[in-house]
Amino acid sequence: MTMIEPQPGIMQIDLYQGGAAAVAGLENVVKLSSNENPLGPSPAALEAYRRAGYDLHRYPSSDHAALRGAIADVLGLEAARIICGAGSDEIIAFLCQAYAGPGDEVIHTEHGFAMYRISALAAGATPVEVPERERVTDVDAILAACTEATRLVFVANPNNPTGTMIGSGEIARLAENLPPRALLVLDGAYAEYVEGYDGGAALVEARDNVVMTRTFSKLHGLGGLRVGWGYGPSHVIDVLNRVRGPFNLTHTGLAAAEAAIRDTAYAAHCRVENARWRGWLADALAEIGVPSDVSCANFVLARFADREEAEACDEYLKTQGLIVRRVAGYNLPHCLRITVGDESACRRVVHAVRQFKNAAQDQPQTGGA
Ligand SMILES: *Cc1c(COP(=O)(O)O)cnc(C)c1O
Repeated sequence: MTMIEPQPGIMQIDLYQGGAAAVAGLENVVKLSSNENPLGPSPAALEAYRRAGYDLHRYPSSDHAALRGAIADVLGLEAARIICGAGSDEIIAFLCQAYAGPGDEVIHTEHGFAMYRISALAAGATPVEVPERERVTDVDAILAACTEATRLVFVANPNNPTGTMIGSGEIARLAENLPPRALLVLDGAYAEYVEGYDGGAALVEARDNVVMTRTFSKLHGLGGLRVGWGYGPSHVIDVLNRVRGPFNLTHTGLAAAEAAIRDTAYAAHCRVENARWRGWLADALAEIGVPSDVSCANFVLARFADREEAEACDEYLKTQGLIVRRVAGYNLPHCLRITVGDESACRRVVHAVRQFKNAAQDQPQTGGA
């Protein structure tokens, strides 16, 4: 008997590995593996979520007008060019589904977010990986990789898992020089962490080949509710709305996100706290021999001597109740991605890494002939 087979490309997808959340047998575990906001969401968002709970029998809004209006108000954007998704992951999926199919190429950078490749393959398209320059997006390398078949170019700025970002001039140069039938997708999942940065919104408005994606999962602390959005040219938003399910967001998610975006004071507080502890964490790790690039996001990509040391440190951190992220799947086997936690979490991480380093130093050299 022959069995039904999936569409081409589907079996090339490696399952997305989420950050672990527990260590067997340990309590007081700190999860620093998914770039979540250690302070949680705005109290106003929690209150809106609770209130929305009284209307669970009602279908949610299908045009997301209230949330789009709030985003537009707060950020000075055009509500009609905003589309909301079940996380920005869903916007990424819509883009691939709508614009890339068999024979089309979808570009992502060497250490780019895993969902670009997954969504491209799910759409039947061919993912194309482009080198970075020392863990930084390389616009020339991207332009060199563009062909007639290029449809989408995904750039996260700041990037995950590197934490680095490139300037608006470089981004604009990339958009200007793309082939005519390609769209630049600026993934701004961490844009809120960069003071004064619009995530590329002005470039979206100035051109017709740039889309920006954003999320409520990181700085706004609502990862559990799955709310993201995109901002793009009207012709693109019109296309994406056709593939979007009418009730893709929940009533509770919409309500909480609307309150979260309006609470600009809380967002600013989270941005400042993150910057403070990110700097402290990076400096303290560097002092004990674990360097990192300057991070523009809410995590630090800690570099170890090699894969063995990174894995051994990860194992040790786990015994101390600290869960960080291995990034070998992102071609960074000698690194660990550590989310910036609250003060106590950051201090625990540094203390544990120092103990790990000291223990390694005290050990007599073994192995070798
Ligand atoms: C976390 C993340 C996202 C998306 O998150 P959602 O929860 O789906 O909104 C998108 N891009 C990057 C680079 C991320 O790190």
